Amino acid sequence: SKQSEESLRSPICCIMGHVDAGKTKLLDRIRGTNVQEGEAGGITQQVGATFFPAENIRERAKEINVDIAKLKVPGLLVIDTPGHEAFTNMRSRGSGLCDIAILVVDLMHGLERQTIESLNLLKSRNTDFIVALNKVDRLYGWKTCRNTRFKEALERQAKDVKNEFYMRLNQVITQFKEQGLNTDLYYEGNMRERYNIVPTSAITGEGIPELLWLLLQWSQKTMVEKLTYSDQVQCNVLEVKVVEGLGKTIDVVLVNGVLHEGDQIVVCGNEEPIVTTIRSLLTPHPMKELRVKGTYLHHKEIKAAQFVKITAQGLEHAIAGTSLYVVRPQDDLEGIKEAAMQDVKSVTSRIDKSCEGVCVQASTRGSLEALLDFLKSPEVNIPVRYASVDPVHKKDVIMASLMLEKKKEFAAILAFDVKVTREAQELADELGVKIFTADVIYHLSNMFKAGTGNLEEEKK
Ligand code: GDP
Ligand code: MG
Repeated sequence: SKQSEESLRSPICCIMGHVDAGKTKLLDRIRGTNVQEGEAGGITQQVGATFFPAENIRERAKEINVDIAKLKVPGLLVIDTPGHEAFTNMRSRGSGLCDIAILVVDLMHGLERQTIESLNLLKSRNTDFIVALNKVDRLYGWKTCRNTRFKEALERQAKDVKNEFYMRLNQVITQFKEQGLNTDLYYEGNMRERYNIVPTSAITGEGIPELLWLLLQWSQKTMVEKLTYSDQVQCNVLEVKVVEGLGKTIDVVLVNGVLHEGDQIVVCGNEEPIVTTIRSLLTPHPMKELRVKGTYLHHKEIKAAQFVKITAQGLEHAIAGTSLYVVRPQDDLEGIKEAAMQDVKSVTSRIDKSCEGVCVQASTRGSLEALLDFLKSPEVNIPVRYASVDPVHKKDVIMASLMLEKKKEFAAILAFDVKVTREAQELADELGVKIFTADVIYHLSNMFKAGTGNLEEEKK
């Protein structure tokens, strides 16, 4: 109906795929910034979040004569995930946080290990996605056609280039078929009957406007119900961090509802629920990332969907990946406090201390949860008997060493983004406990399976 179409919120989009497929670079190209080159090793270490206003997308589409006069969503919210973290973390009342995803595939490499992991996650959450078949500019002899519609850019290429493109495209389509999925170029045949592939280059810009256009068009066509704005606040904590001059802040994604300055809120804390009052609601300027330093816009109130930085007292122990609740005068505060703490309980309930398995340690509750989910998935399937949000100390090594006699390969600690104390490492070496450290989740399982702390060795 007209009513529901007028009150659509912005779709929330995750960008996923194998490391180095070009996730960050694609977002950079869309934003016109350069976050990718400022990153350690080019890998996204933080949750990056960007809001693209519909107006901006409309302008870009005009450049390539795509008609998007019919846009009804206010914009697009994109989360750039470090590994799969944000995606697996953000379980909002049983459903995934993302409405739609971009699955980035490197045209020159086809489907890779982490692409398939991403696919499985998307399937398990029933999340629709569009494939960005990236790095078309790397086809031998590719002639750059800046910000041109891909179809036209392809027509302008030499015959050999076209042939190589179709050969590689068909390989990718076959690989998707092997995963049980029908895919095809977005401009071929019936869009609704398969997953759409948009060939792109994050360097030269071919295909980018169509990707954006398709994301918006596709979500507003197929998800009217899901995207219909609701007053009921639905909000997730993406990150907890210190900002100079602001103190401890939380970055949240507001999926539905309105937040006001002065609202009483409840968020999940390390030990107990945190009940506090919103001091300020901040957003970065449009088209800028939350993590890029700069000035913020202050708001009296903010309506979904949007990324927001919240300052309030007592946020020190807030936990990323959990829900934020707003308390209205008629609400039952105790009930809300209990609900807020459920997210943490779900972490501990998934560990069986009596079973045979490895020890897992991570820097935040959110990443621990993501890691546990990942280890439990059928493709990985590594049992866990102990988990904590802490650096690795001697006591953890002792805990892991209990496995030495039962099942030697499980006498191991998988440490995600946490320090290992020197005493702990020494004791581990002495006892024969293996400590695997990494700051990318899927590296940990690879290293564990290869039985080596060095990923390079496994690759050889
Ligand atoms: P991510 O790990 O998926 O976020 O990948 P990045 O965005 O960090 O990109 C990995 C590397 O591939 C970087 O060196 C990029 O410059 C390069 N890259 C990404 N997209 C493209 C592309 O479309 N064409 C070419 N030639 N290189 C690309
Ligand atoms: Mg990246």
